[in-house]
Amino acid sequence: MKDTSLARPAGSLDTREDWRRLTLLENIAFQHYSGAPESCPSPLTPREEEAIRGLYAAMRLIRETNFPRWYRNPKTGEAVERNFGEVLMLIVSELAEALDAHRKNAMDDKHTDRLGIEVELADAITRILDTAAELGLDVPGAMIAVNRYNKNRPDHSDEARAAGEGKAY
Ligand SMILES: [Mg+2]
Repeated sequence: MKDTSLARPAGSLDTREDWRRLTLLENIAFQHYSGAPESCPSPLTPREEEAIRGLYAAMRLIRETNFPRWYRNPKTGEAVERNFGEVLMLIVSELAEALDAHRKNAMDDKHTDRLGIEVELADAITRILDTAAELGLDVPGAMIAVNRYNKNRPDHSDEARAAGEGKAY
């Protein structure tokens, strides 16, 4: 079972503690790819390392702006625990807004110099990275694993797709 000890402690709205958790999480991402051979198929490439650092930088930026505001009852000031299903649906709602913006080829209503689809995808990424920080999940590190898998999976090869053996899209 995955260690979830890096999730935000229930009731905590301490921003310094939150920052400390993010630093630990980023260190874990790098340890994962430099640890024992069985857990480390190969070391990180410079581009993979850059991607992890960039994603953690984005997580810090997002968290700096939104924590603890998104986790505090505005009336009582008390910490609130978010329901995971509700958070996932908030992410889905941003994707639905992206679809709507795409259908209308609309500019964003608040950021009028930007396409709506750009802003809604940014909203979804913001929610996803915030949720990763909240739950102590090394999503940036996992993205490297996903990317490596996608690079080599046989059902994504041109041959498999041309032969009708892979996914159509
Ligand atoms: Mg939105």
